[in-house]
Amino acid sequence: MSTSSTDHRTFVIVGGGLAAATAAATLREEGFDGRLVLLAAERHLPYERPPLSKGYLAGEATLADATVHPADFYETHGVELRLGTPATALDVDAHTVTAGDETITYDRLLLATGSSARRLPLADDSGAPVAYLRTIDDAERIAAALRERARLVVVGGGWIGLEVAAAARAAGCDVVVVEPLEEPLLRVLGPQVGHAFAQLHRRHGVDVRTGTSVEDITTAGAPGVALVRLGDGTTVEADLVLVGIGAVPSTTLAEKAGLKVDDGVMVDEHLRSSHPDVVVAGDIARAHHPLLGQHVRVEHWDTALGQGAAAARTMLGTGEPYERLPYFFTDQYELGMEYVGYVDRDGFDELVVRGDLDGVYLAFWVRQGRVLAAMHTGDWDAMDDLRAVVRAGAVDLDRLRDPQVPLGDVLG
Ligand SMILES: Cc1cc2nc3c(=O)[nH]c(=O)nc-3n(C[C@H](O)[C@H](O)[C@H](O)COP(=O)(O)OP(=O)(O)OC[C@H]3O[C@@H](n4cnc5c(N)ncnc54)[C@H](O)[C@@H]3O)c2cc1C
Repeated sequence: MSTSSTDHRTFVIVGGGLAAATAAATLREEGFDGRLVLLAAERHLPYERPPLSKGYLAGEATLADATVHPADFYETHGVELRLGTPATALDVDAHTVTAGDETITYDRLLLATGSSARRLPLADDSGAPVAYLRTIDDAERIAAALRERARLVVVGGGWIGLEVAAAARAAGCDVVVVEPLEEPLLRVLGPQVGHAFAQLHRRHGVDVRTGTSVEDITTAGAPGVALVRLGDGTTVEADLVLVGIGAVPSTTLAEKAGLKVDDGVMVDEHLRSSHPDVVVAGDIARAHHPLLGQHVRVEHWDTALGQGAAAARTMLGTGEPYERLPYFFTDQYELGMEYVGYVDRDGFDELVVRGDLDGVYLAFWVRQGRVLAAMHTGDWDAMDDLRAVVRAGAVDLDRLRDPQVPLGDVLG
């Protein structure tokens, strides 16, 4: 870290998002005083993305609010931060990473390259005004459109699409959401809770069209206007088409380096990849989860934070298995919610709801008598109990179904 450093090792972090910046801080907190280099593709200081689809679009949050550490953090902690410098090659046998015209030899390396927005070629090729939301630059463009009260077509009823729809309605924009499945968020939340989200948006004036896809996008013959044709034969005119159809893990560097990749970089519960000196965190990590008993890749803020810290400890040889349950939150209009747990592709066979799906409620996703995941809307004190129920898994279901029974009393 300085001329008085006793550790002669070099650690390199490749990324520049929340996982990377958290790992850098943890390494210093845990006493690593060797050389620490952070290679970041974006030109901005590492920042958190959740505000981009919420407060930033509403004009309530700035880039500075979202920044993980202030600018002077990197200098005072001896982190060689290279902004706008993507790593382009990784040789895990030689222990070298190349960025720009520099090749750095490392002892341990953290890969935290995150995700990018999944592209929709028919939108990209249309010549119409099309936006995605992944970076602060994307958010600024969408915020400018909302200030102009643009008419918006949102392609995809996932988290980001719905959050942008909410921000756009608050700004007074006309919004149409197009979702090919029967309900928004269907794959994550199932039909009942997905329908509750659709109704929430309808109550706020969003035209939610489900069970139909975008077939074609053209420029409508007018510059800056998109004509969106749907599978049901209708057309919608928009000033901006926001495509929110998911994210793709940025694994090119890992793949080229020969690391094991399968929908994310495969890592063990210590976040070690198929090469022991390369650890992985955040959106790109498909990590073995000791409690869930399977590999999971989680695209959530809390995982980037937790795995960033855990990966740093693994680099130092002091790590413990990463076993935090996946956790997610969203804010849309007056609704704030938190979700904990994981429902895999096998789905769930029962949804237990306590409360009113149009307002404040708790929901539990159950398979074969085990609670896989739980969620609350607007009940901010419930989270500890929800976590305990999901951790316990096997609970007394009759008691869970009875809203009069306190959650603390449903554990077996
Ligand atoms: C708009 C938006 C809203 C969200 N809202 C929520 C929310 O409400 N709740 C929630 O739980 N989660 C939310 N998320 C998800 C959450 O932000 C992500 O899970 C989190 O950002 C993942 O952090 P990360 O560090 O793994 O990756 P990222 O944040 O993607 O950061 C990775 C960084 O690595 C850089 N990079 C890529 N390749 C290279 C390379 N070769 N060399 C150097 N750098 C490279 C990228 O440019 C990027 O800056 C949201 C995401 C978005 C986009």
